[in-house]
Amino acid sequence: MSDILDFIKAKDPGQKEFHQAVQEVLETVQPVLDRNPEYRQSAVLQRITEPERVIMFRVPWMDDQGQVNVNRGFRIEMSCAIGPYKGGLRFHPSVNLSILKFLAFEQAFKNALTTLSMGGGKGGSDFDPKGKSDNEVMRFCQSFMTELYRHIGPDTDIPAGDIGVGAREIGYLFGMYKRLRNEFTGVLTGKSLGWGGSLIRPEATGYGSVYFASEMLATRDDNLEGKTCLVSGSGNVAQYTVEKIIELGGKATTLSDSSGYIYDEEGIDKDKLAFVKRLKNVRRGRIREYVDKYSETVYTEVDSTLDYNPLWNHKADCAFPSATQNEINEKDARNLVKNGVYLVSEGANMPSTPEAINIFLDNKLLYAPGKAANAGGVAVSGLEMAQNSMRLSWPREEVDSRLRTIMKSIHQSCLDAAADYGVPGNYMAGANIAGFVKVVNAMLDQGLV
Ligand code: NDP
Repeated sequence: MSDILDFIKAKDPGQKEFHQAVQEVLETVQPVLDRNPEYRQSAVLQRITEPERVIMFRVPWMDDQGQVNVNRGFRIEMSCAIGPYKGGLRFHPSVNLSILKFLAFEQAFKNALTTLSMGGGKGGSDFDPKGKSDNEVMRFCQSFMTELYRHIGPDTDIPAGDIGVGAREIGYLFGMYKRLRNEFTGVLTGKSLGWGGSLIRPEATGYGSVYFASEMLATRDDNLEGKTCLVSGSGNVAQYTVEKIIELGGKATTLSDSSGYIYDEEGIDKDKLAFVKRLKNVRRGRIREYVDKYSETVYTEVDSTLDYNPLWNHKADCAFPSATQNEINEKDARNLVKNGVYLVSEGANMPSTPEAINIFLDNKLLYAPGKAANAGGVAVSGLEMAQNSMRLSWPREEVDSRLRTIMKSIHQSCLDAAADYGVPGNYMAGANIAGFVKVVNAMLDQGLV
């Protein structure tokens, strides 16, 4: 295992997020390789850690001042062992090959857990939609798609949204794809309802993360009623996480963006959440405006001199990190435990550092890794693809009930795999093992390709 990791690190030395994601999986699947010697003989680890295809391209676009800008576009096609490549597009200045490879690698196992037929991929750009006009975002999306369309298709690779890519961006991307290909197909998910989107898709990741938390609590005859929850982020995942927490009788007290976070001791209720949705999705404002509206609440600006995030240092029962990778470090994890948190459900991808995860596991927290807890988003994307293929649209209750069933089944698969390999209750090991076995068995069935 360590030889393989050393090899990967030597080959791509700067890709620390990718190394982190690979290391976590390799460490937990060791017993699977011991039990299945054919996996080693077929070099599955070397194969599964190398993307099937990496596409990088120039994205030139013109801003409102007539200036030409150039960004970099990416698509990582990681694995199509169990279905066409599937995974989101991220538009954020931090985007690079390491971050997208880590996300695509995680996506392959996450998609396997959903029980739907989807391989793993991820893409995006270092373009920052923040502060750009709608016209600038449209011109960027059109230029991005002018290259990406060659590589994707409803049976090949089906991108979706992620950080910085919501309904607006998916609309512009789809419009350009349709024009270039002259076909109206389900090539992107996260589409608006009026033209091929699925009900519950916007809600799916946040709802799914809370459903997963409910399943974990049920193993201890517990539920979310009356529980205080810390939530980070204020985008798509965070908003619908809070919505479902409220619905199930819990109380969410925090939300954040990259500038700071708000603490509302009384809890973010339905009206306050409606304000956040308008603020973030329509006005594209900053979370600090919450305290202008609700004066009894507190806003804390990000302080880069601190070695911890004060958002994770409040009394609570549950934590739902829903912003970005590595947002909970070792000190944050210690603060969470000290403040009484006994459940962490990761809406974001890889939000906890390896040191933080060790603290969760050592303290026997109910800890759900992102690839299990946030799989509801891609699961409903899979349902959107199914509806598009049939030219049908299922009612809200049907999609929500399928989402619930899928989250229940992912929870059970994690528990079963963990118990089978002697680490009962370890959802991280369970998720890695269950996803890995499914992808690797498909690879072996299909020969050396
Ligand atoms: P959005 O763009 O809707 O929201 C992201 C939120 O996180 C914003 O509040 C943003 O603040 C904050 N954020 C982003 N980057 C940073 C950073 N470097 N530091 C601090 N805050 C940051 O994205 P989503 O809600 O869709 O995604 C959130 C997480 O969930 C990501 O990890 C994503 O990969 C994961 N995820 C999303 C899925 C989906 O269906 N959307 C599916 C599965 C996982 P600001 O506005 O200031 O940038």
